[in-house]
Amino acid sequence: METLKTYRKTWAEVDLGAIAYNFKQIKKKVGPQVKILAAVKANAYGHGLVAVSRHLEKSEIDFLGTSSVDEAVNLRKAGIKCPILNLSNLLIDEIEPIIKLKIIPVIAEIKIARALNKKACAYRKEIPIHVKIDTGMGRIGVWHREAGTFIKNLKSLSNLIIEGIYTHFPSAEEDRDFTFEQIKRFNLVVEEVKSFGIWPKYLHTANSAALIVHKEAHFNLVRPGLALYGVYPNSKFQAKLNLKPALSLKTRIAYIKRVSRGRSISYARTFFIKRASRIATLPIGYADGYSHLLSNKSKVLIRGKFYPVVGTVCMDQTMVDIGLKDNIKVGDEVILIGSQKGRTIKVEELARICHTIPYQVLCWISSRVPRVYKVIV
Ligand SMILES: *Cc1c(COP(=O)(O)O)cnc(C)c1O
Repeated sequence: METLKTYRKTWAEVDLGAIAYNFKQIKKKVGPQVKILAAVKANAYGHGLVAVSRHLEKSEIDFLGTSSVDEAVNLRKAGIKCPILNLSNLLIDEIEPIIKLKIIPVIAEIKIARALNKKACAYRKEIPIHVKIDTGMGRIGVWHREAGTFIKNLKSLSNLIIEGIYTHFPSAEEDRDFTFEQIKRFNLVVEEVKSFGIWPKYLHTANSAALIVHKEAHFNLVRPGLALYGVYPNSKFQAKLNLKPALSLKTRIAYIKRVSRGRSISYARTFFIKRASRIATLPIGYADGYSHLLSNKSKVLIRGKFYPVVGTVCMDQTMVDIGLKDNIKVGDEVILIGSQKGRTIKVEELARICHTIPYQVLCWISSRVPRVYKVIV
């Protein structure tokens, strides 16, 4: 295990072996003909952009997907060589760096395509591009009815190679009918594009949910994010693909004291002691990404047993009721996300308590939480 020099008693443990395992499971699911792009945007969903990407590169990932040029630049600076698709609309001032660092841009505007082509000609380079089509997501992308003509116009730009065309699903984990409608719309665009003599190397549509439940969405490249990190977009999908959660959020008890009946705990006095007990203070709070929404609702694991969070979660501290009897000491390891002695607290469960999505829970984990990497082989 690689340890970081830190005095903080709160850390996120990332099991790179689990990510490689999930990658293999996804690979098995989609088959050898289908390539895989790992979504590593947003600091690899909180798991650490460079460490995760390096490990995936070693595991022979086909593409990495970022959401900003800065993320892609950080990967190149870290020595990552694998193809990077930057999944946001290319902007004028980004043309220079994406050419220099071989970052594949997304194109959804003719003006920017022309500007890119001009620079590509000046550098005497051929630039692969992926064209984004909107089949119902409503954000970046050419509306599917206009996409054929749009792509036909791109053909005249001498130094751009239409390497991919793709679309994105807003509701693949829930809405079967709409997802099928989107696949239909996408296929119509593909047919039209082929009738113009354009044969993009990659066609891609599937996020984690779609790759798990819609085989028709695989085409020849899939783009998992959440599933790679071992988290399910819908808990009903657990039987369809075996995944291992990669991230654990841990801390160590900072303080323990006895409290008598009637006292209140934490800000806003939302919790009152009903019978004498001990309260452990944990050095983790919402500034670390342990949401205030978990106040009085979540639980933690200490020595393999669940204990409730009591009172409101503070910026830097959280209190749990550990009772009077159990042998618990300052410095004991506490699991806020993860497993201990066969018991587990899942990202999905915290998301449910907060009435949010698991993605949010992972992205909440802030930069002041050191990431510690371990690889179980
Ligand atoms: C984030 C993202 C993905 C990955 O989505 P998951 O639901 O995490 O699998 C795929 N495609 C695009 C365009 C994305 O932005």
